[in-house]
Amino acid sequence: MNPSQGEQAPHMTVSALPDDLLQRLGALEAMAARHERRLADAEAASSDWERVLDAIDDPICIVSADYALLYANAAYIKLFGPERDGHERHYCFTAARQLHADGAHGPCEECPLPCSVHGRRPGFAQQEWRAPAGPDGAEETRVYQRWTYPIVNANGGVDRVVEALKDVTEQERLRRAIAEEDALREADRLKAELLGTVSHELRSPLTAIKGYAATLLRHERRLPAEERREFLRAITEAADRLEVIIDRLLEMSQLETGSITPHLEAVDVVRVAREAITAAERRAGAVPTAAHHIELRVLHEGAPATDDWTIIPADSRMLRDALDNLLENAVKYTPEDGRVTVTVGAARNGADGAPLPEMLEIVVRDTGVGISAEQLGRVFERFHRVDTRLTREVDGLGLGLAICKRIAELHGGSIWAESAPNEGSAFHLALPLAPAAERAGSAPIA
Ligand code: ADP
Repeated sequence: MNPSQGEQAPHMTVSALPDDLLQRLGALEAMAARHERRLADAEAASSDWERVLDAIDDPICIVSADYALLYANAAYIKLFGPERDGHERHYCFTAARQLHADGAHGPCEECPLPCSVHGRRPGFAQQEWRAPAGPDGAEETRVYQRWTYPIVNANGGVDRVVEALKDVTEQERLRRAIAEEDALREADRLKAELLGTVSHELRSPLTAIKGYAATLLRHERRLPAEERREFLRAITEAADRLEVIIDRLLEMSQLETGSITPHLEAVDVVRVAREAITAAERRAGAVPTAAHHIELRVLHEGAPATDDWTIIPADSRMLRDALDNLLENAVKYTPEDGRVTVTVGAARNGADGAPLPEMLEIVVRDTGVGISAEQLGRVFERFHRVDTRLTREVDGLGLGLAICKRIAELHGGSIWAESAPNEGSAFHLALPLAPAAERAGSAPIA
């Protein structure tokens, strides 16, 4: 066929078309050209938008409502690698799988994405990300702040979430270094304070011993026998006090450094409480007051339905020590007409009101002077004594409750107090109940 004939054929066909059809064809061509231009503009805008996000040093990504990764900028890909999960899932899914041996499939713990998807609010988390080992086998832990923002659609739903990550490793390193330095400085301050308190406490009985001994030496012949005996008695009392202080200090230090640990065995709390009460009543001396008749109650309600539920794994010497301290305080800070009771029962609620299942609770309650709300939080601190006329009058080192707290902690339990001025106090000591299998007999449990 003649090429010139072939070229002319379509022209001939078009020109043969009716005018209105020709017009419509022209309009369609113009529309197609417009769409083509728009498409080219949109493509240019989209790649421009991606170039903008790629220029940002911080990793940014967009995920769908089911956490599929829809977009990741260059920084994100550089950090988490293009091969991560085939880029189908957000990187924290991989982190979750690293953390959970069972290969959990879901966002990592503390992930802010669910908050943005379901809560339709911005989410935030600061997390450590263990970067996989490089060619040199070195792993690096970096700290990231993750900020997530929901993109809410016209129906009020969230179909996408934007996440921006910020590497705060250096700031975090600096913050931790400063915190460590502060802690060291605080520890030094506490040590100095401790030395000051200890020296002061030791000095008072020592001064008394030196004073009486010096007077005895100087005036031995001139002093009547009765006075000499009085001085010797004062020396013995001050020496006893010194011994108590040193014993207490030693005990506190051993408990804190871990050089004594509880020797757990099956201990009947009621028996130990009864012995502690007898000893406290005996310490009251020849003229016991009402406060020295200490009542013991055992509450079976809510307790395990076994006869031996009051037998728990505990260090009997430590338990006795804690009860001695609590009873000594109760008697010391309660007027003569007051009352002291000891209750053994199943623990209901802890200091924060949360239920304490599997715990036995010993409550030492008194109707004494009580403790103000602002002092209540501090009485378990070492050497803390509430400064009142009474505490100035009665002997005390401020270590008894700190020792009780440490003993409770070493048993996996806790101690707290409820009190109000002039309304008495209740000290709660909660200790874990032993599992039935471990409670039989008196054989050591651990
Ligand atoms: P202390 O040797 O001074 O009694 P503790 O550590 O046993 O030291 O107690 C610390 C402080 O808590 C006491 O100085 C006292 O102010 C207060 N405290 C302890 N138990 C009671 C109580 N049952 N009633 C009132 N105050 C108490």
